[in-house]
Amino acid sequence: MFTKILIANRGEIACRIIRTAKQMGIATVAVYSNADRSAQHVQLADEAIALDGLTAAESYLISSKIIQACKETGADAVHPGYGFLSEQATFVNQLESENITFIGPPADAIASMGDKIKSKKLAKAHDVSTVPGHIGVIANADEALKIAGEIGYPVMIKASAGGGGKGMRIAHSSAEVADGYATAKREAAASFGDDRVFIEKFITTPRHIEIQVLGDKAGNIIHLNERECSIQRRNQKIIEEAPSPFLNDVTRAAMGAEAVQLAAAVGYYSAGTVEFIVDADRNFYFLEMNTRLQVEHPVTELITGLDLVEEMIRVAAGESLRHQQDKIKINGWAMESRLYAEDPYRNFLPAIGRLSLYRPPKETMHDDGTLTRNDTGVKEGDTISIYYDPMIAKLCSWGPSRASAIERMQVALDAFTLRGIGHNIPFLSAVMEHPRFISGKISTAFIEEEYQTGFNGVKPDTTRQQHLGMIIAAAHEVETARLQSFKHIQIDILDKRLSTNYRTKVVQFNTMVDQRTPPGGSIEDDIQIQVNLINKKNSTYEFTLETINKDKISLQLDLAPDHPKVHAKLVEDGKAYTYTAELWRHQDCWHIYYRGCNLSAHVRSAHAAALAHYMKPVTRPNFSNMLLCPMPGSLVKILVREGDIVEPGQTLCIVEAMKMENALTSEKRCRVQSLQFNEGDILGVDSTIMIFEPID
Ligand code: ADP
Ligand code: ADP
Ligand code: MG
Repeated sequence: MFTKILIANRGEIACRIIRTAKQMGIATVAVYSNADRSAQHVQLADEAIALDGLTAAESYLISSKIIQACKETGADAVHPGYGFLSEQATFVNQLESENITFIGPPADAIASMGDKIKSKKLAKAHDVSTVPGHIGVIANADEALKIAGEIGYPVMIKASAGGGGKGMRIAHSSAEVADGYATAKREAAASFGDDRVFIEKFITTPRHIEIQVLGDKAGNIIHLNERECSIQRRNQKIIEEAPSPFLNDVTRAAMGAEAVQLAAAVGYYSAGTVEFIVDADRNFYFLEMNTRLQVEHPVTELITGLDLVEEMIRVAAGESLRHQQDKIKINGWAMESRLYAEDPYRNFLPAIGRLSLYRPPKETMHDDGTLTRNDTGVKEGDTISIYYDPMIAKLCSWGPSRASAIERMQVALDAFTLRGIGHNIPFLSAVMEHPRFISGKISTAFIEEEYQTGFNGVKPDTTRQQHLGMIIAAAHEVETARLQSFKHIQIDILDKRLSTNYRTKVVQFNTMVDQRTPPGGSIEDDIQIQVNLINKKNSTYEFTLETINKDKISLQLDLAPDHPKVHAKLVEDGKAYTYTAELWRHQDCWHIYYRGCNLSAHVRSAHAAALAHYMKPVTRPNFSNMLLCPMPGSLVKILVREGDIVEPGQTLCIVEAMKMENALTSEKRCRVQSLQFNEGDILGVDSTIMIFEPID
C-alpha cells in the first residue's frame, strides 16, 4: 500500500480524497494555487505544496509542477480527482516514467475514451449501442447541413473533445445548423483547444442514466448499477440520484453488461462511468465514458456502501477487487444536489463573491434512519472566484425509499445557510417539491419544460402563505419586545404588550415572488392575513393565533438572535407542520425565504393596515432602455452598431463567462443610441453595455 498520496486537485473533491486516505492511514499532500493558499484542502492535508500561478492553466494543469511536488514530498501515488489532469493520458505516462502510481485507469484507456468520435467508434465495434449519427469530423457548415439532413432533425452538434456540457448545440431544423455548428466549434476551441465537431441524432424525451464501473489490474470488472442525472441545465447535471426511478431490472442488467463490455474492451481498471442516453421506450445509447471518479459518485456510495476512493486506491496499489457482481445490492435511495454559486433567477449565470455565512446542515444519521452527507471544500469567509468551478457543495441524502430521500433533502436544503453570494438553493428546493420530479417522470428537458420563462420563484399556496405570514407576525412580536428591552427578551414586556388592544396584527404581503423585485412594491388586498395573538406561554415562544375565520393555530417559534434561520412548529386542525426558513427584517419590512418562495411583508396594526394603501408606492428605477450585463464576463462580440434599429429577439452581443458563450438579445424594437464598451472588455454584473432609444 502507498505511504503518501498527492492529490492533484482542489475544492470538495480534494477534501473528499484526503478523508478516505486518512481513514486508510495514508499520508496526504495537497497542492495549491495562489488563490487557494488558505483553502480547506490545504488545511486538511498533512503537507501542502504551492504551485504558484493563479489560474488553473498556471497551476493545477501543469503536470511538471505536480510531478515536482511528488518528488519534493516523496509521494508515491497521485489521485487526480475529476477535471484538471484526471483525463490526460500523457500525465499518466509522465508519472509512470517517474515511478509514481496514477490512481486511475491506464493511459491508453483514457486516450481511447477521451475523444468522443474515437470512443463512439470503439463502442460500436464492441456491440455497444451508440446514438445514431455520423461518427467522424465535420469539415464545414455545408457538410454539417448535409449530414444533419441525412440523420434527420433534431440533431446534436457536439465537440469531439467535449466535457462539462460545453461545445454542444441542438439544431431542430436546417435553419439552426449553421449557427449551432459555428458556436459549438468556437466554444470547443475556447474550452478544449480542439474545434473538431461531429453530429448525432438528438434523442427526444432523453434521460441521462449512467453506469458506474469498477475494475482491477487483473482484469476483473464489475458495475455498481446506475445513477440518473437527468436534471440538467445547459447540459450540465445539478441533481442526481441512485437508483434511477425509470429502470427495470432487465434494462439495468443490459446497460450494466454493455458498460462492463466496453470497459473490458479498453482494458479498464479503477473507477469509471459509462454514460447513456435513454429514450422514452427505454432504448439506451452510449454517450461517452468518463475515465475518472465522477462528481456524483456519492449517490452510488450511499446505495452500495462502498467507498469508491478507497476502491480506486486499492486497485492502484495492485489489490484485486474485493467485491463480486452478484454481491452488489441496491440499498435504499440516494439524492445529490449540487449547490452552485449561480443565480437561478438569471438563467443560472455564474455568481462570484464571498461566503459571508456558510452553515451546512449536520452530517448525520437521523432518528428516522435517513442520512445527510455534505461534500464540500469551502468554509465561512472563503470566496468563490472566477478562476475555478463555481460548485460550493454536494448535498446528499439517503433514505430507504425515494420519497424519504427526497424529504430528507428538502429538510437539509431548508437548513443550509449561505449568504454573501448568489446560489441555487431556492431552485433546488423548488425541484425537490415539484410534483413531476416527485413522480419521477423526468427528462433532461425538465428545467426547460417546467420553467419556460426561467425560474421566477415559487408561488406559495394559500396554506403556506398563511403559515409564513403567521411566523412573520409572531417574529414581529418577539422582535418588538426585544427592541423595547434593549437586551435579552423580557417576557413580562411581551406579556404586557400582548395583553393590550394591539393584539390584532395584519400581515400585508408585498407582491414579490421574484427576488429581483425590490421590496416595498404594491400591496395586494387579497394576500393579507389577519391574526389575533391570543396567548403566549411563559418562557417559550409559544403563541396561539386566531385567523379571521376564528381558526385557532398554535405556533412555537425558535428564533435565536444570532441564528439566520427561524424554526417554527405549527399545529392547525390537529395537523402539525414544521418550517425552517430564512427570515430577516430590513427597516420595517420582513423577508422570508422558504423552499423557493420569496416573500416580503409588513406587519401592521389593523388600523395602520387599513390606511396603508394611502402610502406612496416605492417606484423602481427604469432600466428598460439599457442592456445590462447579467454576469461577470468578457464581451467577445458586439453584433450591432450605434444607430442600428434592432428587432425583438435579435442578438446584440455575446458575453463569455466561465467559458460559455451567452447571447444577449433585444427585448423590443428600438434604436441603439450608444455602445458603452468595446469588444474584449471585461464586464461586471449590471455593467451597462448599450443604451437604447425608442422609435416613434
Ligand atoms: P459532456 O462530455 O459535456 O458531459 P455528453 O456527451 O455526456 O457531454 O452530454 C452531456 C449531456 O447532453 C447529456 O447528459 C445529455 O443531457 C445531453 N445530450 C448529449 N447528447 C445527446 C443526444 N444525442 N441526445 C439527447 N441529449 C444529449
Ligand atoms: P460529470 O458528469 O462528472 O459532471 P462532465 O463530463 O460533465 O462530468 O464534466 C467534466 C468534469 O470536469 C466535471 O467533473 C467538471 O466538474 C469538471 N470541469 C468542467 N469544466 C470545468 C472548469 N471550467 N473548471 C474546473 N473543472 C471543470
Ligand atoms: Mg457527460
